[in-house]
Amino acid sequence: AAKRTGGHRWCFFESGMHESRRRHAQLAQDLRNALERSELRLAYQPQVCAVSGRISGVEALLRWTHPEHGAVSPAEFIPIAEAVGLMPRLGRWVLEQACAQARQWPAALKVSVNVSARQLADAQFLDCVQAAVDGLQERRIELEVTESALVDDADAAVQTLNRLRELGVQLALDDFGTGYSALGYLRRFRFDTLKIDRSFVNDLEADGEARVIVETILAMTRALGLVAIAEGVETAGQARMLRERGCEGLQGFLFSRPLAAQDVLPFVQAWEGGRAVMEAV
Ligand code: C2E
Ligand code: MG
Ligand code: MG
Ligand code: MG
Repeated sequence: AAKRTGGHRWCFFESGMHESRRRHAQLAQDLRNALERSELRLAYQPQVCAVSGRISGVEALLRWTHPEHGAVSPAEFIPIAEAVGLMPRLGRWVLEQACAQARQWPAALKVSVNVSARQLADAQFLDCVQAAVDGLQERRIELEVTESALVDDADAAVQTLNRLRELGVQLALDDFGTGYSALGYLRRFRFDTLKIDRSFVNDLEADGEARVIVETILAMTRALGLVAIAEGVETAGQARMLRERGCEGLQGFLFSRPLAAQDVLPFVQAWEGGRAVMEAV
């Protein structure tokens, strides 16, 4: 009986591994054609300025509707795209798409675009950014990078970020607090915006330690002359606490889910027109 149980467990484990490997391989394969098949699109999540109460920008988030699996999360497929070398191409498409979209929107609306580690290290990346932002107002586009994109070759990353700055894009450090959080990074790389990871925002109301961490991040952000944006704001209580503590930017489901491109302007207009502005915050 012992043998049977053992064998059974082993088989179960193996088939689980097998399944996830198969899904990985299938997604990697299908991702190659996803662009041509128009399965990819960008969603845009509004960011609220807690000081003015206005929508200050939107973050572009990649969406993939797989013909069989339906919506696949970017948290799952972006690492796959990175691993199989598709990210430079997908990333270029994202950047071009987001910049083309930005041209259709008022100049006051900043558009943030996520950039992966592989993209940042790609030799053609700078040219690609230069072409994509051509004709757009300075600082209209912001690129979001995570710390993990900076660790591999920090010297090269410093150079790349400096060149990006010269091209007139803003730079944001994404998911702050989850990586190595080597504070030296904040000196070494010059960011405009620091995005407080949603795990801290999530614990803000219940957890005194999360509150202290957020307060410390905000104090540091101010002292360094950066703008803080809190991610994953889901409750009015979180928004209030963040605003009271001087967090300038707020982003999360409380205000809006990521929207289809055509829904962005109507959302902004309704927001500006309505009294929703400060009531929500
Ligand atoms: P991120 O850049 O930190 O994006 C924020 C994520 O939090 C998004 O998930 C967004 O939908 C989600 N979010 C926003 N507000 C809330 C909230 O109130 N509650 C909760 N629970 N979640 C919220 P999404 O779209 O699934 O993207 C996941 C990650 O995938 C992104 O994290 C980013 O790292 C990556 N990603 C997405 N699009 C792109 C892209 O075009 N290029 C690259 N390189 N990475 C991307
Ligand atoms: Mg981001
Ligand atoms: Mg983030
Ligand atoms: Mg994240």
